[in-house]
Amino acid sequence: MPAGVNSPVRAFGAVGGMPPFIAQARGSHIIDADGNDYIDYVGSWGPAIVGHAHPEVIRAVQHAAASGMSFGAPTQSEVLFAEMLVARYPSIEMLRCVSSGTEATMSAIRVARGYTKRDFIVKFEGCYHGHADSLLVRAGSGAATFGVPDSAGVPAQLAQLTLTLPYNDLDALSALFDSRGHDIAAVIVEPVCGNMGCIPPKPGFLAAIIDRCRQSGAVSIFDEVMTGCRLGPGGAQGQMGLVPDMTCLGKIIGGGLPLAVYGGRRDIMQQVAPLGPVYQAGTLSGNPVAVAAGIATLTLLDDGVYARLSDLSTTLQFGLEQAIAKVRIPAVVQRAGSMLTLFFNPERVDDYTHAAQSNRERFARFHGGLLERGVYWPPSQLEAAFVSAAHSDEDIARTILAAEAALLDVAS
Ligand code: PMP
Repeated sequence: MPAGVNSPVRAFGAVGGMPPFIAQARGSHIIDADGNDYIDYVGSWGPAIVGHAHPEVIRAVQHAAASGMSFGAPTQSEVLFAEMLVARYPSIEMLRCVSSGTEATMSAIRVARGYTKRDFIVKFEGCYHGHADSLLVRAGSGAATFGVPDSAGVPAQLAQLTLTLPYNDLDALSALFDSRGHDIAAVIVEPVCGNMGCIPPKPGFLAAIIDRCRQSGAVSIFDEVMTGCRLGPGGAQGQMGLVPDMTCLGKIIGGGLPLAVYGGRRDIMQQVAPLGPVYQAGTLSGNPVAVAAGIATLTLLDDGVYARLSDLSTTLQFGLEQAIAKVRIPAVVQRAGSMLTLFFNPERVDDYTHAAQSNRERFARFHGGLLERGVYWPPSQLEAAFVSAAHSDEDIARTILAAEAALLDVAS
């Protein structure tokens, strides 16, 4: 395996050292192959919102698996799953299940291009939407971490069809739509960015994307693969009362198994085969075991869970901010719901340019200091940490103490 891993950030390239190999996980804790126990803030990069190996999710998975792992045919459970999502996301009138966030965004782009009969798409610098060719242009997450804004192997002719703008820059958005609005098939955005660290949108930014798309006949796509069902049952759009044309979901909705969806306005989704001319398919799409994990997870996510997540995350943010103040190190904590990032940056971060100016050497030492003290934090400055409903008050208190000690190491 290249660098010994199956996804780049896992190799710890941005922080150095050897990544722990994980043997098992339960609740808020993961245990490595050497028996070391960590409080986990990676949460499988988002899915583990109710904690690892939740008994009800495990029961649902075992039950589904015993009835057959995959049929390649329609099931009742995928209909129930779709209904659960449609009830939570008013923007989704029709949807299709796929197996990863990458497939969801890639397919949404294809549908938007087919629907509009236009080729150009717009994305924002530092937003990561998976590794489809058109979207690996000025992407965040591992791509940004490793300084590879454009991946080798992406044809220049294709990348030219992806126009990029700074996140949170309303003027740049307006200028682009004024000059080229009639060429644009879609604008895709992380409504709260997590892939250059946690960066919430400025007031009016997302509404402007939806409005400008509507005026010019382009399709607005909210990539809620990370934020969906995390910032609330209806994701970022639900929290903010916004209705984009299309939405992508992943991570949480599969409860830790490979499952994602793309969906949106009925007239747009009717373009998808076999109803319409846009082809998209998958052998394991809507896989019954993944769908069972998704239904069980969505069922667990009631108001109490979101209230608990909010309390825990607020306490963590506050504790980290106090530690930063005590140690007197230039750093800020940015949070949206239960996702947060500690940026080694003297000022608030609103876009990729500023996120990239954060002190990554300090972050690497902070990360190592946390790991030593039993806290598994995302191994890159440009990622968000995730709190789960399984974290205990004691986990959070221990994390704050560990962070203060790690910050002292960094400052010394
Ligand atoms: N979109 C966003 C916002 C993501 O955070 C990710 C993954 N981190 C993806 C898309 C891609 O999802 P996957 O890794 O499941 O392909």
